[in-house]
Amino acid sequence: MTYSIVCGAEIHVELKTKSKMFCGCKNDPFGAPKPNIYTCPVCLGMPGGLPVPNKQAIEDVIKLGLAFNCEIPKVSHFDRKHYFYPDLPKSYQISQKDEPFCLGGYVDTSFGRVRLNHIHLEEDAAKMHHEVVDGKKVSLIDFNRSSVPLVEIVTEPDIKSVEQAKEFLKKVRDIVRAVGVSDCDMEKGSMRLEANVSLTKDGSLPPYKVEVKNINSFRFYGMAMEYEAKRQQEILEKGETPIQETRGFREGRGTVSQRGKEGLADYRYMPDPDLPPITISEQWLNSIKKDLPILPGALEGILLKMGVDKNSTDVIAKNKDMYQYISHVEKIDKNLVKKVAADIVNKKFDWMKIKPEAYLEELKSKQSSLIVDENILKPIIEKVIADSPSIVAQYQAGKTGVLGFFVGNVMKATQGKADPSVVNKLLSNMLK
Ligand code: ZN
Ligand code: MN
Repeated sequence: MTYSIVCGAEIHVELKTKSKMFCGCKNDPFGAPKPNIYTCPVCLGMPGGLPVPNKQAIEDVIKLGLAFNCEIPKVSHFDRKHYFYPDLPKSYQISQKDEPFCLGGYVDTSFGRVRLNHIHLEEDAAKMHHEVVDGKKVSLIDFNRSSVPLVEIVTEPDIKSVEQAKEFLKKVRDIVRAVGVSDCDMEKGSMRLEANVSLTKDGSLPPYKVEVKNINSFRFYGMAMEYEAKRQQEILEKGETPIQETRGFREGRGTVSQRGKEGLADYRYMPDPDLPPITISEQWLNSIKKDLPILPGALEGILLKMGVDKNSTDVIAKNKDMYQYISHVEKIDKNLVKKVAADIVNKKFDWMKIKPEAYLEELKSKQSSLIVDENILKPIIEKVIADSPSIVAQYQAGKTGVLGFFVGNVMKATQGKADPSVVNKLLSNMLK
């Protein structure tokens, strides 16, 4: 009766290079003013068009490989993946199978490690638009997207729950954005998600998997997993095995069968004879490494060392400008880093407008005007205590949470000028 989910993810990410993957056409499918303007014989799939690989795209995918702890093999090559569809006029997609640019790798989540199988580079297909023109249903094709560099991140089936899937996918998005190679905009489609879902009883790998495509949000990813788990459980409980197939996610309808799964052999993968293998020299790899920014995980570690609270590091590590602000503060005054970080995260001031120097001055002048003198504070606290005998009784009965009530009243009586740490110390002594 108790099944557990086995899920692997495939994540497609469009790179934001200047030009397309195998030609000089502009790579800007979302910004284009008209369809079919960034095209040439190569990305239109005309006979005789010869592909030339985009060096920037190759460097970008290797950067991603480094960010995801992959091995970067010395030699890599492109393959042709054959299938027919109107958005793919060559009848094959240039992709990678046997020698991708990045092997292995992993992402750690709080539910355990998700291993990557590999990361490869390919080209996007054109975009189909299904519309009604003059009362007729037609399918239109926009080739502005044809041959846009596309990275595919493929995991091992290590995802065991919806919560883990969401944490993993968010981490992937944050890392790709931090590397700076894609916007990962799921609404536009520059990040697209697929889930390979099956169920197991004993933890062993099931003999089938169901691929769910067209998922364009983390929430839908979770919904697709849950829908599949329920659907497959019903089949398994009848003593049957779910068919291995491709399904699409439809909001409000769960997953819908699209087509039986083609075996790998049906794609007739073969090395692309137009594209010789690519050698990644030690020197080239080192220059790419130098270009790699510090990633969110590493930034969090640095921020924690600076004394920033865990709650604040999560937010700041994802925002380069915020991080720079905090490291600037650290250079001026180490003791105020934690405070400034918390104030930024809690939106206590507009850090985009106020310079670190100015804010530190403000904090310091506030601190120096705080009342720390116990002889001034004691009578005020005595009065606050005397005014609320019933709350005092509650405190003495063990409800220590009411301390905040007294602190608040002391702050009110001093117009916020009492030093909170001194007030706290005095109150807990005087309430004993
Ligand atoms: Zn082109
Ligand atoms: Mn792909």
